Amino acid sequence: MNRYILTPDLRFDESPNAATRFAFHVILRRNRVIRSSLLLVSALFAAGLHAADNVSILGNKPRWDIFENYQQTITRDEFAHLITDVYGTHGFAPDLIEITDETARILMNRDAQKFFTLRFAVDDASRKRVPRLWRPAKSLPPASAGKPLSNLKIALDPGHLGGNWAKMEERWFEVGESKPIQEGDLTLCVARLLAPRLRKLGATVLFVRDADEPTTSKRPIDFRQLARNILITNGVPQPRADVLDPTDPAKEQTIRWQSEILFYRYSEIRRRAARVNFKLHPDLVVCLHFNAEGWGDPNSPNLTDINHLHLLVNGSYLAQELEFDDERFEMIRRLLSRAYDEELPLADTIAMAMARETGLPPYAYPTTNSTTKVGTSGYVYARNLLATRLYRCPVVYCEPYVMNSKDVFDRIQAGDYEGTRNINGRERKSIFREYADSVADGLVEYYSKARGGSRFSYVMSETAPSVH
Ligand SMILES: [Zn+2]
Repeated sequence: MNRYILTPDLRFDESPNAATRFAFHVILRRNRVIRSSLLLVSALFAAGLHAADNVSILGNKPRWDIFENYQQTITRDEFAHLITDVYGTHGFAPDLIEITDETARILMNRDAQKFFTLRFAVDDASRKRVPRLWRPAKSLPPASAGKPLSNLKIALDPGHLGGNWAKMEERWFEVGESKPIQEGDLTLCVARLLAPRLRKLGATVLFVRDADEPTTSKRPIDFRQLARNILITNGVPQPRADVLDPTDPAKEQTIRWQSEILFYRYSEIRRRAARVNFKLHPDLVVCLHFNAEGWGDPNSPNLTDINHLHLLVNGSYLAQELEFDDERFEMIRRLLSRAYDEELPLADTIAMAMARETGLPPYAYPTTNSTTKVGTSGYVYARNLLATRLYRCPVVYCEPYVMNSKDVFDRIQAGDYEGTRNINGRERKSIFREYADSVADGLVEYYSKARGGSRFSYVMSETAPSVH
């Protein structure tokens, strides 16, 4: 008898309401989460070793020694605030992080009972410099005239792959004879419109992805054995090889589906992270996505009147995520880098610009199980996504527009164009330019203010000539 059910795992769902689900955790029927994939991965890669690192899927072995560089760079109050209000909002096992007046004791390996001791700065005045490669707005040299983004290195990360991969990554739907909607193509279109706008404002702009192809060299076939092992460990003793059709309710329990998601999400985002962290070294990454409500059958999707906007920053780790040594390590590294101090006001400012220009209401998550509302705009949530966790710099993750809302669908069908057109009775910019312009305006507003300039002294992107 099958004691287990596979359950949606929203942690890695890049677009919260789209019909993508992934199941690495086994959930007992009584809802008690137990760790499974970590046992598997440890067993696969560290067979026979005592006290193996408890590493998440395709995760890296934590390098705890680098935290020596962060000794006395943070006060106790600041550390406790970030743990309580941003990163550990869902609670966690008490032995993972223990905060005293002078130190935080962080669990490195439970089997070996090894801990890292982080010493706090006594006060703000004696705090040592935070080692990091990215530069906060306040540390940038004054902006040159008309160039509020000068000296700033921004990486654009258009979400997903698009092109021939869109169906596989379940970011595809089609209504009748109309043009298929592929999120990965839409995000790349926005990035290509946004880049010249930001360059005109003085920024150096880099692309994390600039084609409808993967950045990872791996393919699903490389993950078939891992997929099979994951399924077996998760209570599917004889996993089926293939999916019957896109609406097959058991598709997630097939080797094909699991090996594909290992490729297009886990491997792909980890590869992008390597590119961001070791090659691009930006001051900021802007992740561009379009949101969706569940559309059901992609060949006959549900269209809705619902439309909304939200932005994400990293935080809100689940208790079971923090059990993984690598996720706990990456959370602490992010906390100590103080990316949050930069990305939260940035996200709030961009959110306000996007809200103003799109007119979209804030998205409200149906539960608070995986997110925590942060900031002052009402549009920003903390959430532990792979990209927001792994890119070692401030990351602002944009989720405007419900692709399968009727209005957005019509605007996407209209394509990109200059000026305005009447769509559904209103004169509108192309949805791609509205997106790009509003992000650019938010960035101008934030950096102008943080660098001491006035946003009104700069040419806003809305009045700038369109650049192809
Ligand atoms: Zn997305």
